[in-house]
Amino acid sequence: MTGIAIITEACIGVKDRACVDVCPVQCIYEFDAVSNALFSEAEAGGGVEHVHQSNPDAVAIFGDSMLYVNTNECTSCTACYEPDVCPVGAIYAEQNVPDGAAGSNYNSSDTAKGQDHTFFIQLSRDVFAD
Ligand code: SF4
Ligand code: SF4
Repeated sequence: MTGIAIITEACIGVKDRACVDVCPVQCIYEFDAVSNALFSEAEAGGGVEHVHQSNPDAVAIFGDSMLYVNTNECTSCTACYEPDVCPVGAIYAEQNVPDGAAGSNYNSSDTAKGQDHTFFIQLSRDVFAD
């Protein structure tokens, strides 16, 4: 099922950028503490494509330990949440983000199964200040 992509807690501390390499619109961002901004690349290590200002309070929660999808730019193309992309199953279509309730469906490779991931829906929006 298509939907805006949301990166959840399994990315924290992993951040291998496999999702960056498959996103066709460079809408997956990393926080740069030096410039206090969020930047995206066409491919991991390939140079900056887009930059947004960050919301200091929101971005301070996880900082540069994970990546963030700009939900205003995501085209719901599904590429990043195909099962063979994220090694830790961190990415979900927004409407499928599991809340930990009985019967919640997690990605098979999600290393944070059982957790309520819905916090990351709002966080994805809050970290971007523009
Ligand atoms: S592929 Fe998964 S672990 Fe890697 S950066 Fe993207 S969301 Fe994080
Ligand atoms: S669903 Fe497509 S456009 Fe959205 S973040 Fe993933 S790869 Fe990028």
